[in-house]
Amino acid sequence: MYNVKENLRKVLADLPEGVRLVAVSKYHPNEYLMAAYEEGQRVFGESHEQELKQKHASLPDDIEWHFIGHLQTNKVKYIAPYISMIEAVDSMKLLREINKQAAKSNRVIDVLLELHIAEEETKYGLTLDACRELLAAGEWRELQHVRICGLMMMASYVEDTEQIRREMMTASAFFDEMKARYFADEDSFCERSWGMSHDYPIAVECGSTMVRVGTTIFGPRVYP
Ligand SMILES: *Cc1c(COP(=O)(O)O)cnc(C)c1O
Repeated sequence: MYNVKENLRKVLADLPEGVRLVAVSKYHPNEYLMAAYEEGQRVFGESHEQELKQKHASLPDDIEWHFIGHLQTNKVKYIAPYISMIEAVDSMKLLREINKQAAKSNRVIDVLLELHIAEEETKYGLTLDACRELLAAGEWRELQHVRICGLMMMASYVEDTEQIRREMMTASAFFDEMKARYFADEDSFCERSWGMSHDYPIAVECGSTMVRVGTTIFGPRVYP
């Protein structure tokens, strides 16, 4: 087995207090997750509903599952009963559906709004203007079963660390703007989810509170 425990310890040692680790376990087998679990890791990130369903059914109950991928509205109902956080919400339509399904389970689901700042075109997420508009419109305030806990983004996948830093600092400044404007009284709006295997040390310098790290802990993903 890839040296999961040792890698996990190394990543954790890099994280200052106040920065949490989401261990991104998509495409990795249960043994790998259990190795991390035995080291004390409880928060895992998955991005496919079917895979998450199997893992949730067979792994310990006290794992907190974060859905980190693009979520189709027709899949929300399957994860709503148990998901801890949905990290990549990028439309009002999805937010409404999460609210509806959370209500059926009698839950309030924590979510992050995903920003599109990277220059790559294929990425999902709200532009800064679209995010401003979504929050300004105010409909989200009526959704009793979702709680917006912060922002998530992926920086461009590039070698240029200055570009990565620029994008993350943009996200960080935008967080401060939204916090001041809409969430000044909400302690729960506090999460800045940026940083992956190749850029989490930069993310930590750019105000991240939650890094999502897969490959550095579990090794290369094996796609079916
Ligand atoms: C897969 C994935 C990650 C983890 O990527 P690594 O490079 O393996 O650390 C982080 N965030 C999201 C949204 C992902 O889909």
